[in-house]
Amino acid sequence: MTMIIISRFKPITLLIFILCSFGLRADAETDKRKLETEGEVNLYTHRHYEADEALFARFTEKTGIKVNVVKANADELIERLKSEGEASPADLLVTADAGRLVRAQEAGLLQAVKSEKLEDCVPAQLREPDGYWFGLTLRARIFAYAKARVNPASLSTYEALAQPVWKGRILARSSSNIYNQSLLASIIAQSSEEQAVAWARAVRSNMARPPQGSDRDQMRAVAAGLADVAIVNTYYLGILATSSDPADRKSAEKIGVFFPNQGGRGAHINISGAGVTRHAKNTENAITLLEFLVESEQQSEFARANFEYPVNPEGQRSPLLKKWGAFKADTLNLSELGKYNQAAVKAFDLAGWE
Ligand code: FE
Repeated sequence: MTMIIISRFKPITLLIFILCSFGLRADAETDKRKLETEGEVNLYTHRHYEADEALFARFTEKTGIKVNVVKANADELIERLKSEGEASPADLLVTADAGRLVRAQEAGLLQAVKSEKLEDCVPAQLREPDGYWFGLTLRARIFAYAKARVNPASLSTYEALAQPVWKGRILARSSSNIYNQSLLASIIAQSSEEQAVAWARAVRSNMARPPQGSDRDQMRAVAAGLADVAIVNTYYLGILATSSDPADRKSAEKIGVFFPNQGGRGAHINISGAGVTRHAKNTENAITLLEFLVESEQQSEFARANFEYPVNPEGQRSPLLKKWGAFKADTLNLSELGKYNQAAVKAFDLAGWE
């Protein structure tokens, strides 16, 4: 029957028919391979923003790679990775603070990856030199001051907060917090452990109350008149200023932003970032997702979601961040923060900063 049908066609038609059949089979092969490489990528993240979800959807649309997200706080995610070991489904760990990423790295939970695109888009200071983790967004740890009571000209450096003029006027959260540990690690990196202890002791004795609460709580207290200056991460002021609670928005209006150490090493900065997990099953997809997130277009959006700065210099700063103004950032490689983390914890302890 087939022969009869074929014999009715001219030889050239037959040739086209055969070539097309091979073509179809080749297409099917390509599709199968595409499915196998497209697959999925599993993310353990502390971030919980709608903007992130929208970016992941855009990524899936572009690449066909499905993004599965598990959300929890950073320390929980690190513990989970430890207990799951080789069986962990996670391909990427996304968390805040280089100090935490170094902790995950030192616990053997991450792997080194090489990507020219990541190296091009993320400045060297903001990634681990061997590729264990990469910064995705940037924040500074700054002074939030009471506009009604503090002349910003009286502010200068982190070091100056140790002076007696600030007695009873400073607020900061506890030393168990990684942000404070990283700030003190940066002070150790540029001076010494002894100087870090002396600084922490003096700043602790200048506090208006024992360390407690979150960065936002420090700013609420400054707005309420309990103290004049709080040490906080930039994005928390953005969160306060756009809060659904009118009292928080009112507090934010009373707060000014001061970037310390502008005449010297620059303000202490940190990142939220990500590393490919040691036992990732979708390593290539994880790298592809990281590469997508550091492109300038995504950077503006990814950073904006949490009132942060893009790590890619070509990303856009949101209007609120532009209002705070440009600032000089400390150029310390952020992997150094992890290196001095234990020394910082010890220094806080010796200084009596609970
Ligand atoms: Fe935070």
